[in-house]
Amino acid sequence: MKNTLVRLAKRPEAEIEEDTFEIEQTAARLPDDGEIQVAIEYISIDPTMRTWVADIESYVPPVAVGDVMRAGAVGDVTGSRHPEFKVGDKVHGMFGVQSIYTGPAERVTMLDTHVAPAQDYLGGLGGTGLAAYFGILKVGALAQGETVVVSAAAGAVGHLVVQIGKLKGARVVGIAGGTEKCRRVVEVFGADACIDYKSEDLSEKLKQFCPDGVDVYFDNVGGKTLETLIDHLAMRARIVISGAISKYNELDSVRGPRNYLNLIGKGARMEGLLNMHWVAEFDEARQELATWAHEGRIKFHNQIEHGLENFPTTLGMLFSGQNVGKLLLKV
Ligand code: NAP
Repeated sequence: MKNTLVRLAKRPEAEIEEDTFEIEQTAARLPDDGEIQVAIEYISIDPTMRTWVADIESYVPPVAVGDVMRAGAVGDVTGSRHPEFKVGDKVHGMFGVQSIYTGPAERVTMLDTHVAPAQDYLGGLGGTGLAAYFGILKVGALAQGETVVVSAAAGAVGHLVVQIGKLKGARVVGIAGGTEKCRRVVEVFGADACIDYKSEDLSEKLKQFCPDGVDVYFDNVGGKTLETLIDHLAMRARIVISGAISKYNELDSVRGPRNYLNLIGKGARMEGLLNMHWVAEFDEARQELATWAHEGRIKFHNQIEHGLENFPTTLGMLFSGQNVGKLLLKV
């Protein structure tokens, strides 16, 4: 059986390009004792992949040049020499950007597709759903009636922050690129308003939509947007640092916000969001997210692209804003 795999060919200096990765076919090996083989179906496409290919130490070591690109994925077990897995099981793991995974079964989790389809375990019930959930409820400590602003509001994390915010009785203002995205943030995901940061004056619009200031800012983009939000905080505001996609192509030049001293006057705080802090609560969070989805109170929106050969361009779509909801690559 052939395995098609995507290797990191070289470290990008700025944007991901076609030749950042190379695609290859090899013979898939059979599992050894304690290992499983998985036919991968969907691969999670994440902004943090850009940080994994940079030569920097972060929360995980960089992907080495020549290695299969790291990725979370779901698929079907096609071979098993591990007592807990059998052929036909649906599983999730860090299987990499390839068509067949053969390797250890540690940290591979079994999926219950009665709860949700396998691909939702990469989105609404995966890292992005959990980031939205723990980010807004734990780090953001959102209370009913408060005003939340979320950037990249049409994206995988953002569209769930909007929906969870509304479900918890907040006023939610999204920030997104383009009129069509803003329309969806309001009409489909249910925000009270959405600011098109590409064509509108963010500061003026924040004054208009958040006259009493912003209680929780859920920051997915960093940079200038974060700085502008720091000028519009309510007393005791919380800023959730989820990510900084506007800076991932230039990590060496990241600077702190010039106006961070405003946090003093507002008695505000800014805190990083690390899902792993809540591992013990993952099952409960997934259950609650799945229940909300079954009851139609939230929707998991996935955007599915096709073909491993399209991995570099699909990853690039996150940086040019060509996705709505969770971006997945179907093998
Ligand atoms: P996403 O929002 O689905 O996709 C990225 C979006 O970012 C794009 O659609 C684009 O939307 C926006 N964007 C791209 N370049 C930008 C720029 N220069 N300035 C402003 N906006 C830009 O991706 P996601 O997976 O949900 O991730 C969103 C953020 O959450 C990322 O920063 C990611 O690293 C972070 N994250 C954190 C955790 C955690 O546990 N802390 C977990 C998952 C993700 P527009 O068209 O609206 O510009």
